[in-house]
Amino acid sequence: MDKQQEFVLRTVEERDIRFIRLWFTDVLGSLKSLAVAPAELESAFAEGIGFDGSAIEGLTRVYEADMLAKPDPSTFQVLPWRGERHGTARMFCDIHTPDGEPSLADSRYVLKRTLAKASEKGFTFYTHPEVEFYLFENPADPEKPLVPVDQGGYFDHVPRGTAHDFRRAAITILESMGISVEFSHHEAGPGQNEIDLRYADALTTADNIMTFRGVIKEVALEQNLYATFMPKPLANHPGSGMHTHLSLFEGDRNAFHEPGAALGLSAIGRKFIAGLLHHAAEITAVTNQYVNSYKRMWGGAEAPSYICWGHNNRSALVRIPMYKPGKGNSTRVEYRGVDSATNPYLAYALLLAAGLKGIEEGYDLPEGAEDDVWELTDAERRALGIQPLPESLSRALAIMEKSELVAETLGEHVFDFVLRNKREDWAAYRAQVTPYELRRYLPVL
Ligand code: GLU
Ligand code: MG
Ligand code: MG
Repeated sequence: MDKQQEFVLRTVEERDIRFIRLWFTDVLGSLKSLAVAPAELESAFAEGIGFDGSAIEGLTRVYEADMLAKPDPSTFQVLPWRGERHGTARMFCDIHTPDGEPSLADSRYVLKRTLAKASEKGFTFYTHPEVEFYLFENPADPEKPLVPVDQGGYFDHVPRGTAHDFRRAAITILESMGISVEFSHHEAGPGQNEIDLRYADALTTADNIMTFRGVIKEVALEQNLYATFMPKPLANHPGSGMHTHLSLFEGDRNAFHEPGAALGLSAIGRKFIAGLLHHAAEITAVTNQYVNSYKRMWGGAEAPSYICWGHNNRSALVRIPMYKPGKGNSTRVEYRGVDSATNPYLAYALLLAAGLKGIEEGYDLPEGAEDDVWELTDAERRALGIQPLPESLSRALAIMEKSELVAETLGEHVFDFVLRNKREDWAAYRAQVTPYELRRYLPVL
């Protein structure tokens, strides 16, 4: 037993923890949980806890239903909302097959494998997400108009606002679980909020995003609200993005930074961005995985629709935040193409793989976009070489299907599962006759 495992066992005893939840994430990005008693912990660390994987989306083929959840002791945290007495804690797990190999269907493993590739080249990958979400009155009923908790807008201070109390309660819990929050504010939509997590290595960030979603849902229910990470719940208001700031470090040096260079960006940084742009369309079915994701992407309101980069350009897919001389280590790129309903492990694996490919192949970075690319005509965009992101899930899948980079990064099992699962989503959606069609066509046809 190693030191971290011993620490977990000691803490469980000292803090009177009665339940340990073992958390893992299915291929679609839903959190799964099984609880074990403290007495099971030693064998959980040694061999893993067996469970039936066939019940979990994308995890196994039916004939290999038995799976093992092996907890990662470095992720041990007490769940503050479960109370002090007879408490509950959680650990994220790696999923193994019965013969002890990492499961190829485990999205955490997909990210770990990609991080290991970066690490072979001497890089650590850091990410920092800006997570947007909506708060509605509870219950939020899909059959009725949604009722946002307030009518606030971007950075609004809503006096005695529900959202204030909500953010304060949520952030207090997150901080007590070791998840640092950098920034939080009301977003542009009514009832829409944003909370930005402090940067950390990408595996920690992905774990933190999963915890974050759970905490936000819990706090909302406690306050009799409904929180949603759905990409575009309200047709006439902005969607919920999960813009993510990315950087590579070599030791404690930021590899994206070069003092004196334009925007402080090193050659590595420029090639990484070129990789992101080159592969952006291929990874979109994962970074924006639902039919609804494309309503955000093409619904205006500052969601990116075109593949380009720019300095502080909010219409660009990749934005280089303001460069502060003397603060080289904070040099980073913001990828705005991810939405709040993505599987963060898969999305971060693909962003990293795309950037690394740009470095490996020495892709050239195209000219940055200075203009508001939404305002340009199609012809102007074409002249500038600016391509659109896929306009639908169907189109995104057709592009992903041909992508070697995505197939290689996700591995065959996850790649096939995503394509199959998303095609079903698209087919079910395509078969709908929507209120829009009835309103538009019935009176005139
Ligand atoms: N809500 C916008 C999106 O879906 C982002 C707004 C912003 O923070 O710039 O990407
Ligand atoms: Mg925002
Ligand atoms: Mg942003």
